[in-house]
Amino acid sequence: MPNINIDGNIIDFKPGQTIIEAARDHGITIPHFCWHPKLSVSGNCRICLVEVEKMPKLVIACSTLASEGMAVHTKSEKVIAAQNAVMEFLLINHPLDCPICDEAGECKLQDYAYKYGVGESRFVDEKVHKDKRVALGPRVMFDGERCISCSRCIRFCDEIAKDPELTFVQRGDHVTIVTYPGEELDNPYSMNVIDICPVGALTSRDFRFKARVWDMSSTNSVCIGCSRGCNTEIWVRNNEILRLTPRHNEEVNSYWMCDHGRLNTFKFVNTDTRIHSPQIRKDGRLTEISWDDAFNETAKRLKTFKPDQIAVIGSPYSTCEDNYLVTKLARTVLQTGNLDFIRHIDPGFADDILRTEDLTPNSLGAELVGVQPSKTGLDIHGILNAIKEKKIKALYLVEDDIVESYPEFESAIAGLDLFIVHSTNQNRSTALADIIFPSATFAEKNGTFININGMVQRIRPAISLVEQDRALDGMSMSRLDKFGTQWDRWASGKKINALPSWKILTAVSKALGIKFKFNMAEEIFSEMANSIEAFKGLDYDVIGELGAKIKSEISNKVNVTQK
Ligand code: SF4
Ligand code: SF4
Repeated sequence: MPNINIDGNIIDFKPGQTIIEAARDHGITIPHFCWHPKLSVSGNCRICLVEVEKMPKLVIACSTLASEGMAVHTKSEKVIAAQNAVMEFLLINHPLDCPICDEAGECKLQDYAYKYGVGESRFVDEKVHKDKRVALGPRVMFDGERCISCSRCIRFCDEIAKDPELTFVQRGDHVTIVTYPGEELDNPYSMNVIDICPVGALTSRDFRFKARVWDMSSTNSVCIGCSRGCNTEIWVRNNEILRLTPRHNEEVNSYWMCDHGRLNTFKFVNTDTRIHSPQIRKDGRLTEISWDDAFNETAKRLKTFKPDQIAVIGSPYSTCEDNYLVTKLARTVLQTGNLDFIRHIDPGFADDILRTEDLTPNSLGAELVGVQPSKTGLDIHGILNAIKEKKIKALYLVEDDIVESYPEFESAIAGLDLFIVHSTNQNRSTALADIIFPSATFAEKNGTFININGMVQRIRPAISLVEQDRALDGMSMSRLDKFGTQWDRWASGKKINALPSWKILTAVSKALGIKFKFNMAEEIFSEMANSIEAFKGLDYDVIGELGAKIKSEISNKVNVTQK
């Protein structure tokens, strides 16, 4: 490969790469506002000016091709003077309203002002004023005074969302962003412009003014809105999720996520409809009981049915670890082959960017860990019909709403002799249940999902439950660090008395006389890796932050959408 010299470092580059790309591949950062690795080059912010030997003037690193033997200086006197000048120019009309700006703390302009600015302004005239509160669409607000005209938002709509909605109007220091006449910024990916705007000009109408970024913790996770499994960060303050943002993973979602995933997949975690305690129906009314009483009562009642009178339904919303225990409960403990999960398919949701027609994060995982009927067992449709015919008398449902999915079977389900439900929130199925277990959400537990392309990905607790508080009591700081999360988040906020479904299933199995020795989700994954071909060679370390693929011949064999 050809070589280039940057500040005395000889680095190789791929033919066709620009200086900024070659530098980035070797961990050398050249400052940039308008350049983005996934957008076309516009070259208008000028902060990436560098000095190239034998060239008469400074050049912009984002559009100058690297060439063999080129010698580049990114910290020379001339370059520093140019960076100072660009920063002074960009800040002339900037309102400097960082104390009330949502972007403060994660703003490129703010960071670069410290790093590449001179710290003072010579500008004494009145700044140009522009509109500060413009709703560009249902989800994005624009502040014209903060905009530095980098055009990233325009190029995102044109090139990634494939829906040109934004443009510049006016000239010089009056230039501003508008939507085209009759248009709104409302494409399904519109909120990504907030992430890539290098200043606080574009803000989320949902998150605006809710928290300063330094008051929140962030935890790496995975979106549960569809089977793409976009990588995310969960942002939490006082044990409450305030926003989700996309996390870069080139194999899964690049830098992006859709607005549905960003807005509609976390608010159920902190709502009043959460189930706070195990409940049992007495005299027609649901009453709270202790965990131990709920486990014992569940076991006592399940023992009164023959295996072929029982059906178990797992969940594509639950982790592989949860579903593995669903399989064990059904096959080993209850010895029933009537086992399946509900598919949630909407072809209208899919597009050719990220969104898939499977609206759940883990159909592939549920199938691979064995949530499927035995040869003689019933699948979901067989189970529903058998409930109607009163052949299935006891139903164990984990983290799904069968009544919402199949309303035509509501009265049949209401007629079951025993209906046990694990659920995070109240729903149409919990309204009919005889025993309810409050289950942890994706943001409250460890585990794995497998996306549409066979990528196994980790989720972690971003907010704490009552049981974690108990477990963490007296634990040293170094042990807390092993949770992979920031310890200080456990300090305050409302806690839910729920458990991950795998823990509930382990306790129910124990009450039924069969002990599984799992204390952590990771131990379940180890057993899966030893016993299921798809998971061979994997563990939580191998999966890491960006996931690991199962063998493609295995994921291709499983078609979760055609049942
Ligand atoms: S709104 Fe933000 S992303 Fe768009 S041009 Fe202005 S600074 Fe750039
Ligand atoms: S594409 Fe799917 S996984 Fe990605 S953010 Fe949207 S709903 Fe979530």
